[in-house]
Amino acid sequence: MAQRQEGSAPRKRALLLTTPNSYRTQDFVDAAARLDIETVIAVDTPQTLADEWNFRLGVDFSHPQIAANQLAQTVANSPLDAVLALDDSGAKVAALLAARLGLPHNDPTAAEAARNKFRMRSLLAACGAPTPAFEEFHTDQERKKIIAQAERRIGYPCVVKPEELNGSRGVIRANNRNELATAVRRLTALIGEGQPFLIEGYIPGIEVALEGLLDRQRLHVLALFDKPDPLEGPYFEETIYVTPSRLAPKAQRAIVEAAEMAARGLGLQTGPVHAELRVNTSGPWIVEVAGRAIGGLCSRILRFGMEVGASSSLEELILRQACGLPLENMERESQAGGVMMIPIPQAGILRSVGGVEEAKALPKIEDVQITARINHSLVTLPEGDAYLGFIFARGHAPAEVEEALRQAHSRLNFEIVPEFALTG
Ligand code: ADP
Repeated sequence: MAQRQEGSAPRKRALLLTTPNSYRTQDFVDAAARLDIETVIAVDTPQTLADEWNFRLGVDFSHPQIAANQLAQTVANSPLDAVLALDDSGAKVAALLAARLGLPHNDPTAAEAARNKFRMRSLLAACGAPTPAFEEFHTDQERKKIIAQAERRIGYPCVVKPEELNGSRGVIRANNRNELATAVRRLTALIGEGQPFLIEGYIPGIEVALEGLLDRQRLHVLALFDKPDPLEGPYFEETIYVTPSRLAPKAQRAIVEAAEMAARGLGLQTGPVHAELRVNTSGPWIVEVAGRAIGGLCSRILRFGMEVGASSSLEELILRQACGLPLENMERESQAGGVMMIPIPQAGILRSVGGVEEAKALPKIEDVQITARINHSLVTLPEGDAYLGFIFARGHAPAEVEEALRQAHSRLNFEIVPEFALTG
C-alpha cells in the first residue's frame, strides 16, 4: 500500500455498493488498496448477514430511497469522496446518495434504464440513438394477440426479452410465428405470468462492447472489444471478447458516437460506461448501455498507462475518477488482450474440471479461472445465469489472442452429469 507523506492530502474514502455474490468486489477493493483509498462496503443484504460476512453495512437495494437515506445517516460523521455502484443493482442507490452528498452523479433515470430494458429502449428512441422497433407486452396477454401485434409492429426476425433480467437470460430470437409462440411460452415459464417483457426487431450484424469513462457527459473510450463468435441466436451466450477492435477506424468512430449519444440520452453523466452495440451496413445500433464497468472478471484483461512504468487496472481508473484523483494516463497498453467467458455446454451437475494447468501453460494464456463450483448444478441459456469461468490471453495481435483463447478452451474438459443420475 502507498505510504503517505506527512502534510499530504487526507486519505480518500469511497463507499462501494455491491451484492453478496458480485464478481466485482475483490478487484475494486484491491484497486482501492493500491491507491490508498479507504473503502466502506455496503452490501445488498440484511445487516445481520452483512455482519456475519464481515461487511460493514447491509442495505436493501430494492428500496433505493430508504437505502440512500440509511447510508447518508451512517456516513454523516465521516465524509465520503465517492459513491460507486459495482453492478447495475446498486446504481440507483448510488445516484440518490451521491446527489444528496453533493458528489458528481448520474441521473437516477439512467440507473432505472440499466435495470429495465423497456425504459432503456424508450429513452434511447427518444434521444434518437439507433435502436430497433420495440413493443412492451405482458406474459398473461392472449398469445394470439401478442403475436399479431408483434407481426404488425416488429416483424421477423425478432427478439423476445424480459425487462429485468441480465446476462442474456430469457433473450430469445424468433424467425417466424411458431418460434415466437415458443419463445413467449419459454419466457413466461422463466419470469412468470403477468410480467412485462419486450419484443424488438432483431439487429443483424457483428457485435462489439465498448468500455469507457464519462466525464461531464463526454465519453473517453478505454477499450473497444470485438466479439468474434457469431451471436445469431436463438440464445445469446457471450464467449470471446478481444481488444483492440479489428474494425475500420471509421466504423469505430461511428460506434463511439452512437454510444456517447446513447449514454447522454439515458442521463449518464460521470463514471464508467459499458455499452453493447451491433454494427451492420446501416451503421451501429445500440443493444444496451449501462453506467457500470464490464461484468464478471473480464476487466482483468485491461491494463492502462504502461508507458509510465506501473500499469493501472480498470478499477483503479474508475476509483481515481470517482475520488477526484489525477487521471494522467488512460491509454490501454499496446498489446492485444482477450477474455473468454467459458460457456456451459450442457445442463447438469459439474462433477470435475480437467486441463486447467495445461491450458494455463499455453503461450499467451495469462490465466484460467474456473468460477463454477464442483457438485453444483449448471443451467444453460436462456434460463441459466452463469459461466463456467474465464480464460485470459495477451499477445501482439488480436487474431493471435483469439486463437490462444480457442486453444486454451479446447484443452479444458468438464464432466457434467445429468441431475437425475445423482438422485435416487
Ligand atoms: P442482457 O442485459 O440480459 O445481456 P441484452 O438486451 O443485452 O440482455 O441482450 C443479450 C444479448 O442478446 C446481446 O448481447 C445480443 O447478442 C443479443 N440481442 C439482444 N437484443 C438483440 C437484438 N434486438 N438484435 C440482435 N441481438 C440482440
